[in-house]
Amino acid sequence: MSGGPAAGTRHRAASELAALIRGAESVVALTGAGISVPSGIPDFRTPGTGLWENVDPMEVAHIDAFHGDTKRFWQFYRPRFSDLGAKEPNRAHGVLAELEASGTIDAVVTQNIDRLHSKAGSERVIEVHGSIATSSCTSCRASYPLEGVGVLFDEDGIAICACCPGKVKPNVVLFGELLPERVISEAQDLCAAADLLLCIGSSLEVYPVAGLPELTLESGGRIAIVTQGPTPYDSEAAVKLDGDVVDELEAVLAAL
Ligand code: ZN
Repeated sequence: MSGGPAAGTRHRAASELAALIRGAESVVALTGAGISVPSGIPDFRTPGTGLWENVDPMEVAHIDAFHGDTKRFWQFYRPRFSDLGAKEPNRAHGVLAELEASGTIDAVVTQNIDRLHSKAGSERVIEVHGSIATSSCTSCRASYPLEGVGVLFDEDGIAICACCPGKVKPNVVLFGELLPERVISEAQDLCAAADLLLCIGSSLEVYPVAGLPELTLESGGRIAIVTQGPTPYDSEAAVKLDGDVVDELEAVLAAL
């Protein structure tokens, strides 16, 4: 035995979660910013490292900002996109991809726009806030892959469609925008049908994701939480693991 009492407690909680996973017919993962922190993508809620510390989100990441000051919008997003596009998945993403490949989990529902689940090999990924993978013309709907947006910028630093004079917008859900109906209803169906919802790296405070565990509980399923810090669902969780997300998921995988 090594690692002291904390490791012992973690081992016990990981074994409990592994037993829940083994006993469930349908397991769905729900992930938030915390799973990408080990990949070097700061959680905007973390003081001192947050994306929104020095910038007002309503000023740059709001749909009105995109239409009102597209130059400033892209000034913020262009470097952020190339930074995000260069990030690599970590072992927490890897564990979920392995669990899907082995038929253990059905899908990953994520708030993250970073594509790291797909990069890690997960196949059924429901991105409720969209992703950086593509951008679209707001006028003719022409679609551009992330790598294809760079050549669209005009001298003002605004991405302009190659087919028409329309402005090109990343396919991420901005503040003030509705979530894509088809995507959110797929997420809701998955969570309602899950015997076990694994909530990973999310504080479960931002709607509509915050409402998804409730759907699992209402239909008689259970929820497990692998997240540092409190969530509104802690008292209803069958098990809560609050250590490092990579360590915790590796421990669960080892216990399966
Ligand atoms: Zn166009």
